[in-house]
Amino acid sequence: MRDGLLEEAVILIRITIKPFLFRLLRRVPMPWIAICVGLAAGTAIWTVLDQIQSRQVDKIFDQELNTQLVLRARESLIRFDRYLSSYAATTRLLANHRKLSEYLEPMFWSRDERVTPVVYKDFRPQWLPDFFERDALTPPSQVLLTDVQGRVREIFQPTAESAPEEVASQVPTQFLDGREVRAVIDRFGDRLYLIASDAVEDAGGYDMGFLVVLVPVDDAFIGASQRGLDLGRAAVALVDSDDQRIVASVDSSALPLGSTLADWSDTYIITSQSLPEYEGSDSNLLFATFVPNASLEKMSRHVRIFERRQRFFAAAVFVIVFTGVIYLVSSRLNKVLKRMTRFSQRALGIPEPGFNRGGNQLLLLEEWIQHFTQLVMTAREEMSRRHQAEMRESEALKAAMMEASLDAIVTLDRQGKVIEFNPAAERLFGVARILAIGAVFTERFLPGVARPAFLRLLDRSRHLHREPLGRGELIALRADGSELPVEISIAPIELEDERFHTLYIHDISSRKRAEQEIKSLARFASESPNPILRVSAEGLVVYANNASRPLLHAWSAEPGEYLPDAWGREVAQALDAGQPTDREMDFSGQVFSLLLAPIRDLGYVNIYARDITAIRRAEQESRQHQAELVHVCRLSTMGEVATGMAHELNQPLSAIVNYANGCTRRLQGGAGRPEELIGAMDQIAAQAKRASEIIRRLRALVGKQPPIRARVDLNHLVREVCSFLEFETNRTGVQIRLELSVEEIPVCVDLVQVEQVLLNLVGNALDALEERPESDRRLRILTRAGNERAEVLVEDSGPGIEHERLPLLFDAFVTTKESGMGMGLAISQTIVENHDGRIWAESELGRGSVFHMTLPLSPAAKDAEDEPNTSLDPSQSLSEQTIQKKDE
Ligand code: ADP
Repeated sequence: MRDGLLEEAVILIRITIKPFLFRLLRRVPMPWIAICVGLAAGTAIWTVLDQIQSRQVDKIFDQELNTQLVLRARESLIRFDRYLSSYAATTRLLANHRKLSEYLEPMFWSRDERVTPVVYKDFRPQWLPDFFERDALTPPSQVLLTDVQGRVREIFQPTAESAPEEVASQVPTQFLDGREVRAVIDRFGDRLYLIASDAVEDAGGYDMGFLVVLVPVDDAFIGASQRGLDLGRAAVALVDSDDQRIVASVDSSALPLGSTLADWSDTYIITSQSLPEYEGSDSNLLFATFVPNASLEKMSRHVRIFERRQRFFAAAVFVIVFTGVIYLVSSRLNKVLKRMTRFSQRALGIPEPGFNRGGNQLLLLEEWIQHFTQLVMTAREEMSRRHQAEMRESEALKAAMMEASLDAIVTLDRQGKVIEFNPAAERLFGVARILAIGAVFTERFLPGVARPAFLRLLDRSRHLHREPLGRGELIALRADGSELPVEISIAPIELEDERFHTLYIHDISSRKRAEQEIKSLARFASESPNPILRVSAEGLVVYANNASRPLLHAWSAEPGEYLPDAWGREVAQALDAGQPTDREMDFSGQVFSLLLAPIRDLGYVNIYARDITAIRRAEQESRQHQAELVHVCRLSTMGEVATGMAHELNQPLSAIVNYANGCTRRLQGGAGRPEELIGAMDQIAAQAKRASEIIRRLRALVGKQPPIRARVDLNHLVREVCSFLEFETNRTGVQIRLELSVEEIPVCVDLVQVEQVLLNLVGNALDALEERPESDRRLRILTRAGNERAEVLVEDSGPGIEHERLPLLFDAFVTTKESGMGMGLAISQTIVENHDGRIWAESELGRGSVFHMTLPLSPAAKDAEDEPNTSLDPSQSLSEQTIQKKDE
């Protein structure tokens, strides 16, 4: 039953109180606990020590006290004894004093039994010098001078007090000793006396008797014997040993006579000692020393308080030191905790466990260690799981790698025997894995010539420790006996007690083939009939094939030398642009087209050149042909306009004839006034000018001119063409509506050719309008500029063109006219395209047609001024510069 209750109590404590205490303790910082524990421990130690030490101190104190008391008692006794001895000595001095012997010389005492002693009361007898006062002894109450039998002959009695009866007439022999001085204490009546006696002789050496000194032993006597004794601290008394009563004391008021020792045992500590040398005495006296309890207790208390204070200081020091040490330990623990927290946070990623809140570092540390241990255990399990998973993964990966590898992978053991052989190796060597395993690699898979090289590789791989791998090219032996070039990388695998080698074998037969091909391809450039060069960014000719000779000659450079500066800049620009650039170079009539292909990664420019002299010549010829064709066209046009022109020319000529006839008639009639004649002459001149203008135009139209481009206003060209066709328009009765832009439209063109195009377009329009009644004949010419292009529209209200004919309109020999050649539009298209322009037609059948021509606008006026008159492109001019330099 009791056990059950106890168990329940224990469980209750474990469930409720322990966690509560733990929580409480966890919150209290260590220094506080240290102070509390220090105080509690200090108090406990102090209490226990106080008890034990107090008892011990008391014991020691008592022992010491006893010793002290005994010593003190002995001292008092010795002092008392000495006092008595002083009396004996003084008595001897007096007994043997010269004055006494001289006094006794003549003396003769009768032998009578009954003698009446001489008593000196008021004065001191001559035989008795005052030695007592001199020796600071209590003065005797009586000094007796006895004869040899002890009968008292003379008495010195300074006070009224007479000698005690027991010795007044006869001093008992027990007090007298002829040989030595005696000093004893004895009781006479109710009083104690010190009796000191010594034998006296007269001057003749005859024994005369004794000198007996009687001193009452009272307060004064004992006080005098204990001179220097502090009565407050100790008192002395003579005690009757039989009834233990005080018979004489140092202070009878404090220790009254007659009181027993038992009466004072409470107030004093009493030490009794027997007096020495009183064997002969009747009185059995004890010498008692009284030390007051109060003074002892006071002393004992002082000692105890002093001791206690010492212990208190010791305990305080203990608490302070203990607390200090714990405080240091706790602050150290604090640091350790913080460090561990930081460590766990940074290194292990464990979340901060909250130690910064403060509390009992020891418990927090314990908690942390538990937490940490748990984490470590979990981490270990996790790691082991991961490790296993990784192992499985790595195994799977290895297997997959071995399976999927395109290279043969063969693992050899220390003896060079195959222990692993992947499918790629099976394919490469034509040997099944099962047959390869266990075979010595060098013997089975390498021809004799390749073995030493392989062994060297193997050896090198061991020393290089994987970095880099032992790598080399070898000849391998297939199962069917054929040989193939392979590249082998050897990776050594060093285990504790075993070493393996993994060989990665790559079939390089295709690579070798490719290398061969590349080598043969590399010969392409040298075999090329066209110049191929490679130039570095700095303009250094790195490579030039044989066909490049004329180019290098033109540049006065050789392979390994630099290009001329202008071409060096060209190369650098091409490299910067990163785009292939076309250039032309004319060298003494030999024209090259150069393609500068930059290879930015390598910092080179490949120059692919082509001799285009023939092409350029053909182009030149073609241009010539075209010009001639245009001329033919013009002539044909002229044929058409010639009638009109002739008619036109007729007018001024007729007018001239008329004016001339008129003048002649007037001059002949004599009526011609000079003013009238001058007017007629002016008219003749004006008409002649007009005629000459008509002829000039005709010539201009027919004249054969070289193809030359010039900057011209497109509006001007249109106007010029209109003036050419003026006769035609007059003839057909068509009024051309000119809608020309107000601003000048600058174009850089071959005037004759573009005029021809316009002539064709306007001419065709006029032809088309002829099919219309005169009232419906409308022709509009419009010019405009925009988007860097100039545009001319020739719009007529003719019959229009069928939709399906529109695409064929610009083909050669397409005509609907009886006398037509069908070449006008074809030539026009060629001319316009040569000028980077475009020509096209729009038409709605029955309502008329619109012909568009666009040309690039000439650059700004200044540029136009600077622009060369020729149509050479920049490459040509560069070539010319280069050549010029060369010529210089
Ligand atoms: P040709 O004038 O010698 O016939 P072109 O090449 O100048 O040669 O013209 C080809 C043909 O295009 C003409 O025969 C004509 O049928 C047609 N054509 C050209 N311009 C027009 C126009 N403005 N209206 C209708 N048809 C046109």
